[in-house]
Amino acid sequence: MPRIRLYAKENMPDLEIKKYPESVLKSKARKVGKVTDAERNILKDMAKAMYLNSGVGLAAPQVGIDRQFVVIDVGNGLVNLINPLIVKKRGCDCMEEGCLSVPGVSVKIKRAKEISVRSLNENGDDVSFEASGLFARAIQHEIDHLNGKLIIDYLNPLKRLLLAGSRKKRVDNCEKL
Ligand code: ZN
Repeated sequence: MPRIRLYAKENMPDLEIKKYPESVLKSKARKVGKVTDAERNILKDMAKAMYLNSGVGLAAPQVGIDRQFVVIDVGNGLVNLINPLIVKKRGCDCMEEGCLSVPGVSVKIKRAKEISVRSLNENGDDVSFEASGLFARAIQHEIDHLNGKLIIDYLNPLKRLLLAGSRKKRVDNCEKL
């Protein structure tokens, strides 16, 4: 009954963004094995959730999926990454970041300016590429999610406490770096 299945698929609820302190955000995501249509469908649903929530990137743990999937679009089109790894980092800069899973909070974080990445794409092919600027930053942010790390984990306990108790939700974490 293909028509009914299609109907069911179209009516599947959109993926819900998990918010801090949900535990799936704190654990290391498992590697993806074979890349089939099932994996491609997860990437598609994640991309939809990213665009619906006006994000520039989304990692699978943010929608409750314990697997190493990442979608990113910093304005140059959708990039799907599976089991991504940073193999080289160059330079560093500091920039304010937000996160769909930590709404209302932004933290200035020091990260590599340019990175070399190894990953699988949505076809299961091994790909290597260089990234810089916002793209490099988004990849590093999303790979942090795959390792259970959030933007607030860059803050020391005192700054985290100050953040919790203040109405100001912007923290400059680069000043003493
Ligand atoms: Zn995030």
